[in-house]
Amino acid sequence: MIETLQLCPAGKCLQILTLTEGGFCDGVQRAVEKAMGAADRRPSREIFTLGEIVHNPLVVEDLRGLGIGAVERVRDVAPGTVVVIRSHGVAPEVMSELEARGVDVIDATCPRVRRVQRAAEGYRDRGIQVVIVGREDHPEVQGVRARCGPDGVVVESVEQAESLPFARERAVLFQTTFDPDHGAAILEALKSTATEVRVQETLCDVVAGRRNLVQEIATRVECMVVVGGKNSSNTSLLVNMVLEAGIHAFGVEDANGLVLDDFARFSSIGVVGGTSTPQASLDAVKEKIIEMQSGVDDG
Ligand code: SF4
Repeated sequence: MIETLQLCPAGKCLQILTLTEGGFCDGVQRAVEKAMGAADRRPSREIFTLGEIVHNPLVVEDLRGLGIGAVERVRDVAPGTVVVIRSHGVAPEVMSELEARGVDVIDATCPRVRRVQRAAEGYRDRGIQVVIVGREDHPEVQGVRARCGPDGVVVESVEQAESLPFARERAVLFQTTFDPDHGAAILEALKSTATEVRVQETLCDVVAGRRNLVQEIATRVECMVVVGGKNSSNTSLLVNMVLEAGIHAFGVEDANGLVLDDFARFSSIGVVGGTSTPQASLDAVKEKIIEMQSGVDDG
């Protein structure tokens, strides 16, 4: 839902529009809670997440403060360590490698991602080639790709889709956070690459719901602040969406990225974040905007 805050600090009226549920999505919340729970229950054990738990440096830093580090490779963890698998999931080979290494695995793969993984396994077992519409370098896509068998492919553009050789049958899955409009264009292209194209809608409903609300806010404000990690794909998508709506968009990682001069001329501002942005960051940005506007001379 959209929440409106109406203020008149220093005589200048300001409207701030935010989302009531604008912080972490369920999958990220669950992964962060599992990591923190592990630190509570196993204070004497070393705990790492495999890859940064979310694409947000503040969250990674907070976890580090609780003694939860991040490693990029399985060989970097010692036997006996606790390793948390983040919401993106991993390839089965990675899971086997972790088990063989004698680490204690906590699997925080998001259930929505798990559904995509299972779909890929199902098509592979029936001998149907899987096409994943997504970014090849995204960890979620790599985990799904590893379950597609040898002929699974990843496409992230219409051109790549069109270049596939004609096949009798293909199945199409989507990276959960892929841009739905871009995904729809790729799917159209894929439909003419096989006699039968099976499509499983695997875009995340939380991301879709947030995009819709952000689009609505964009019609009601003069500018939008999008809070989130620079390397977060869904935060970048929100910034692009706001720009496409034709209003000013400011992408910041946290409240320190705000500059008074950017906002002095606006009287209605949207504050939103990606699914890897903690609510505390959004609240801090909102407070900083109010504080900055309070210091603006109306006359
Ligand atoms: S964006 Fe959706 S699929 Fe990804 S972790 Fe969050 S809830 Fe799960």
